[in-house]
Amino acid sequence: MATDHDRDRDNGEAATLAQERRTEESGGERERGAAGRLLLIEDEPGIVDFVSRGLEAEGFEVEAVLDGAVGERLALRGGFDAVVLDLMLPGRSGMEVLASVRTAMPSLPVIVLTARAEIEDRVAGLEAGAVDYLVKPFSMAELVARVRAQLRVIAQVSTSTLEAEGIEVDLLTRKVKRSGRPVLLSTTEFELLTFLMRHHGQVVSREAILSSVWGYEHDPATNVVDVYVGYLRRKLGAPDDPAPIHTVRAVGYRLGAAS
Ligand code: CA
Repeated sequence: MATDHDRDRDNGEAATLAQERRTEESGGERERGAAGRLLLIEDEPGIVDFVSRGLEAEGFEVEAVLDGAVGERLALRGGFDAVVLDLMLPGRSGMEVLASVRTAMPSLPVIVLTARAEIEDRVAGLEAGAVDYLVKPFSMAELVARVRAQLRVIAQVSTSTLEAEGIEVDLLTRKVKRSGRPVLLSTTEFELLTFLMRHHGQVVSREAILSSVWGYEHDPATNVVDVYVGYLRRKLGAPDDPAPIHTVRAVGYRLGAAS
C-alpha cells in the first residue's frame, strides 16, 4: 500500500518502515490479501499508516483513500469485503458516505472510526446503519477483532456450498448443478455465477460485477458482462425452466425468482 504520505515521509522513517515491512513479510506465513479486501477511508496519514500496516500484517489487503468522495465512489464500485470509515473527511463526510453505502450495498460491513465519542454521534451513526464503531484512539488488536467479527458474519452465510433457485455451487470442487443436472462452466462463468449467487435476490450493477469478476477497469462501454450473462443463461436454463437471472433495466442483473 502506498500513500502520498509514504512519499512525503523523511528518509530515516521510511527506512525504518521498509525494514519493518520486510520483517513482517519474511516472518508471516499469511498470504497477502487472503484474509479479505478492505477499503480504508481516512484522511489522517498517521492513522492510515497505522491501520494499513496493522491490517496488512494480519493478511488483509488494504486500499486506502484520503478523501470521502473518492472513497464513496470506490466503495460503491464493489469488490471490498468491508469498509473502515473515518467520519471527519474532506470531499464528503463519513456519515454521507455511510448513508450511500448502506442504500446501495446493505450487506457490506462498515466499521466507523471516530474521534467523537459523544453518545449522540454514536446513535446518529447507528441509525444511518453503521455496523460497528471504534473511538479514537483505538488499538490495532481492537480494530482487527472488529474487522474479523464483521467478516465472520458474512462467512457464516457463505459456506463451501451456495444454493439458490435450484442452482447448487460447490466452491471447493467448483462443480455446478441446476435442478440436479451437472452444468459445465468456464472459469469466468463460474466466477460470475458465484458473484450473483452471493448477492441472491439483490440487484447488482454491471460495474460491481466487472470489478468483482474481471477485477480491473474496463471501457465503460464494454458489454462483456451482458455477453457472459448470456452464456450463463444458456448453460443454466432448460426449455421449460429458464435460468433465474433477470435483467434490471439500466442497472444490471438480479439472480432470484421472477418478479
Ligand atoms: Ca478525519
